Amino acid sequence: MPELPEVETTVRGLKRYLDGARIERVALGRPDMRFPFPQGLVQALTGATVTGLGRRAKYGLIHTDRASTLVFHLGMSGRWRIDPSDEAKHDHMVIQTSGHRFALHDPRRFGFVDLVDTDALEAWPPFAAMGPEPLGPDFNAGHLRAALEGRKAAIKLMLLDQRIVAGLGNIYVCEALFRARIDPRKPAGKVSRPALARLVTAIREVLEQAIGDGGSSLRDYAQPDGELGYFASRFDVYGREGEPCRPPCPGTIKRIVQSGRSTWFCPRCQK
Ligand SMILES: [Zn+2]
Repeated sequence: MPELPEVETTVRGLKRYLDGARIERVALGRPDMRFPFPQGLVQALTGATVTGLGRRAKYGLIHTDRASTLVFHLGMSGRWRIDPSDEAKHDHMVIQTSGHRFALHDPRRFGFVDLVDTDALEAWPPFAAMGPEPLGPDFNAGHLRAALEGRKAAIKLMLLDQRIVAGLGNIYVCEALFRARIDPRKPAGKVSRPALARLVTAIREVLEQAIGDGGSSLRDYAQPDGELGYFASRFDVYGREGEPCRPPCPGTIKRIVQSGRSTWFCPRCQK
């Protein structure tokens, strides 16, 4: 499932080929993905020039010179194929520029796109109540302290709350809590100031490392299938139940369930 680093990697990959390009043709393979394609999407994009790309949480943003932005979400299985040599069954939207073809491919169709006035992006419903970007300047220990003050819910669950911090998913929350040596079950309001400072650093590090790994796999970008390179990160705890913790810790990685989702952690390292 694409998380923030995969979306960032995707946006950077698309940017190299799409930024500044004029969209010559848009084709939809079906009327909907998770949601119906917006009315007038093809007309709105055809002939438009891409003026920039960006990301907010796990959403990719393709800005155009028509004051509108194509927002995409990759859902569970979405990815962009660039210059695919074949026409695949699950290419639901294809954008053609003078030099390249971009196909939004999503077999499970949990992904979706929307067309939003660029000036009104911050008020777009999924963005309206969203917390700061974890890699941006507004995400810091002071913000976390204020947002978590008095909260009794487990710190792990609070970090998955998009109103506290935007775009963090299960993998990177588990990894960051391990690096910051914080017990995922600890009531959020009880996490100490130094631990919150470690947490901010850890969140940034795990995301940046994953983006870096993704960036390097983009060298293989122009594969015949044109698939953007996702990457297999080396996780310290995620998916490692029963395996040994990192040396010199003699502990074993444990899995628990919090609000219906797995959490992996080391009970010896994380207090
Ligand atoms: Zn350990």
